[in-house]
Amino acid sequence: MESLVEDVVIVGAGIAGLTTSLALHRLGVRSLVLECSDALRVTGFALTTWTNAWKALDAVGVGAILRQQHLQLNEWKPNCMNTPGTRMTSSACTCYVVYTSHHKITFYSKYSKLHLCIRVYLILLNNLLVNTYIINKLLHPRSIRCRNVTTSLVMEQQTSSLSLKGTGKHGEREVRCVRRQLMLEALAKELPSGTMRFMSKVVAIHESGFSKILHLADGTTIKTKVLIGCDGINSMVAKWLGFKEASFTGRYVIRGYTKLMGHDGLEPKFNHYFGKGFRAGVLPCDDNTVYWFLTWTPTTQEMGLTENPAKMKQLALSMLEKMPSEVKSFIEKTEVKDILTSPLRYRHQWELMLGNISKDNVCVVGDAFHPMAPDLGQGGCCALEDGIVLARFLAEAFNKKPCKHIKEMDEEAKAEVQHKKIVASLKKYAKERKWRSFDISVTSYVMGLVLQGDLKLVAHFRDKVLPNFLAELLLKKSDFDCGKLICDTYDVVE
Ligand SMILES: Cc1cc2nc3c(=O)[nH]c(=O)nc-3n(C[C@H](O)[C@H](O)[C@H](O)COP(=O)(O)OP(=O)(O)OC[C@H]3O[C@@H](n4cnc5c(N)ncnc54)[C@H](O)[C@@H]3O)c2cc1C
Repeated sequence: MESLVEDVVIVGAGIAGLTTSLALHRLGVRSLVLECSDALRVTGFALTTWTNAWKALDAVGVGAILRQQHLQLNEWKPNCMNTPGTRMTSSACTCYVVYTSHHKITFYSKYSKLHLCIRVYLILLNNLLVNTYIINKLLHPRSIRCRNVTTSLVMEQQTSSLSLKGTGKHGEREVRCVRRQLMLEALAKELPSGTMRFMSKVVAIHESGFSKILHLADGTTIKTKVLIGCDGINSMVAKWLGFKEASFTGRYVIRGYTKLMGHDGLEPKFNHYFGKGFRAGVLPCDDNTVYWFLTWTPTTQEMGLTENPAKMKQLALSMLEKMPSEVKSFIEKTEVKDILTSPLRYRHQWELMLGNISKDNVCVVGDAFHPMAPDLGQGGCCALEDGIVLARFLAEAFNKKPCKHIKEMDEEAKAEVQHKKIVASLKKYAKERKWRSFDISVTSYVMGLVLQGDLKLVAHFRDKVLPNFLAELLLKKSDFDCGKLICDTYDVVE
């Protein structure tokens, strides 16, 4: 049976593990990455990467290659889709198109024209869109055109859109939808050979003096000075640190991607749809790949169908039936094998505040640390930030030139000094990352409640106030720079 000795062991070769390992490598510290799968494991096709992620990707030197492979998104388009009726049922009703000075508003209603006038007037008043022109037009029957349609009882309203370009506090904004496989490959390619060890599932952790001993499923043991848990939402390292299992939000996500034959009218826009009980997005990764998702709270009946991608596709299409046909066609074209449904889980915020992000020479990074529902699209971006910050502190413990009196110590005393430095560096990492992850996690949690909330007041806030507020928030939370991997005391490796 094999026994290995390493300075730094990282469990998990996902975004967090590979970024941490590469950042350490750039600072001259070798690490071993253990991955239980037999190759890089890609779950979920793509993820939105905001400005903060690009700062981190640039810090480890893979930003340029990923930019070449992905479109920069220039606009965020929120659309409220309020579905007061039963989701799947259809009924005959009348479609009214109301033209105002600035807006074209479509209503589907069974009410008479006069009744509708009063309702529209009240809605506009509520929206503070009223001016004399609108009132005059609305009270005039010719301002409302009607046609008979057979459709579900749906109100859809596109609210103002937002530019994803421009300049923030930390420089130029940048948002792209990155294919997970390409991100993992870009990170892995830069690692020195022998850094990753596949089919290496960690099954137990034991203490041994200043080190930890890891036991792998194949019987191998690895002794290490530092153990970094990048092992995702079911992290065994997080469990060792005392964290509970991630909690279920009550919601699921359907994700899919479509490969198009040509350009197919793809615009570099993040199309966002939200309404009572669901939230969806459709966005391009590159010139011919589109990623889409839908998060919702399933009924008991729907829960039984989550393993059936064909049914999930049908459900997504029925919930998004009022989506513009050119956007909906991307979902229609998705092959069943490219559809994945999974539950959404998160770590309670008080656990982030009170739990041990680090203990002794062990710490957690990425989803092992702060699993969250993707309502801000920041989980992976934060994992990238974590990796950079941790590497910077940890490299200090390994790279700082020892002073004279340490050089004269015996090996045991030297090991103790280094252990203390390692423990201190992990504490600094935990302290620095606690507030950032708490902030993102709380915001994401509240956003999830509001975006899919059923309560009337919450729904009102979502439909009338949230779009602009959310847009600002998305940009504000991503306007963050985790810093570079440069320090005088390190020998930086290219
Ligand atoms: C539906 C959805 C949409 C999302 N959208 C976005 C988005 O748009 N933007 C964004 O930034 N984030 C998004 N996220 C979050 C993002 O996907 C995660 O934060 C990110 O993937 C976490 O990376 P990680 O490396 O920490 O964990 P993982 O990717 O889970 O990697 C963990 C790795 O550890 C390995 N492993 C686990 N246990 C062991 C073990 N015992 N021994 C050895 N190896 C082990 C696993 O095989 C895996 O490879 C989304 C998440 C979901 C669920």
